[in-house]
Amino acid sequence: MKVHLLKSAEVDTTLFTKVVDFLQSIPGAIQFYYDLNWVVNFEEDEYFFKRFETKEDFENQILMSDHVKICESRIFPMERETTKWENLFKKCETYRKKNNIANDEFVLLLTDKPNKQNWFAALDEKMPYNGFIHTDDWDYYIKSSPAFPIAYEVIALVLQKHMFEGLYDLRTKVHETPIGCINDLCLHKKDIILKLRTGDVCEDCLERAEGKISMPELHHALHIMSSLREKMLFAQNLKKFSPLSKLLIDHKHKFFLPDFGNIEIKLRPLEKALYLLFLRYPEGIYHSSLSDHRIELYEIYSSISTMGDLTEMRVRIDDMVNALSDSASQKMSRIKRVFEESIGEELAKHYYIKGESGQQKKIDLNRELVVLSVV
Ligand SMILES: [Zn+2]
Repeated sequence: MKVHLLKSAEVDTTLFTKVVDFLQSIPGAIQFYYDLNWVVNFEEDEYFFKRFETKEDFENQILMSDHVKICESRIFPMERETTKWENLFKKCETYRKKNNIANDEFVLLLTDKPNKQNWFAALDEKMPYNGFIHTDDWDYYIKSSPAFPIAYEVIALVLQKHMFEGLYDLRTKVHETPIGCINDLCLHKKDIILKLRTGDVCEDCLERAEGKISMPELHHALHIMSSLREKMLFAQNLKKFSPLSKLLIDHKHKFFLPDFGNIEIKLRPLEKALYLLFLRYPEGIYHSSLSDHRIELYEIYSSISTMGDLTEMRVRIDDMVNALSDSASQKMSRIKRVFEESIGEELAKHYYIKGESGQQKKIDLNRELVVLSVV
């Protein structure tokens, strides 16, 4: 089974890439393709303004549960440019035609354009291999990267195609009272949180899919859902009491946390070089004495990076060790952020480079937990 993912122009590329990464991180029978160069815009479409009189109106009249932190930045009444489903599906169809995509392959559009029904995701009745996922508004419901629910919705659409015969069937057979199944009726948007928490498909729905989707594909979809669930629990700081994971750095210099569901910590080459340097010095390094490690950093960086020539690489390192430049601090902040977004603020503290200003910076992690494949 093939799933093609597109994004509309305003969707952040980092977010889009993260969604694709989540989906591709588990190997299996479903293949995910993406096209960053295809531009989907709404400039020539008709749109209308949808108005939400109140907060409740926006949330479909269901109050939020207490444990959900809500971004209160929206002020009601709120009015915004909104499009119709048919416009969204038309974008998928155009892509399908122009790229000769077979009729049994999915084309899913990730868009931040709100839709008339205010749904997070839907398939086209007429062509159920076309669908959209709304990428905005998630911050209102969950306290973690929207990449988690968006990736989850991709899987939900793929499964729903094989479980229901059209929208009517879907709307009449889904669980009206949420039970934490992928097919919970999430007209009440906050119900999505329960779905994400459980990352599950109930027995009835599994039966529905039987014979309509191959076992390897179904298993792959379920595997992705459970990995998303686990990654999201870490990111939301809900796993903060877990024992620390080993930090594995493989032969390609990729960073993984094998005991935290094998979450990958995605850093850029210079950040990795800096991190690896600090790993070598458990006692820490003063920011001002980074330049003493210039040669060591050249050596680490050139073993990691395949980007650019040697002179360019030296310039980057020279800039990073320069006590007057912000470069090293910026890299450390980003490393911190990547760890926090991946495993939550509490667990992250053990892994990132930290230290009071003017004091030594160091990584707390017990070095016995560090597994280096090559370095
Ligand atoms: Zn179900």
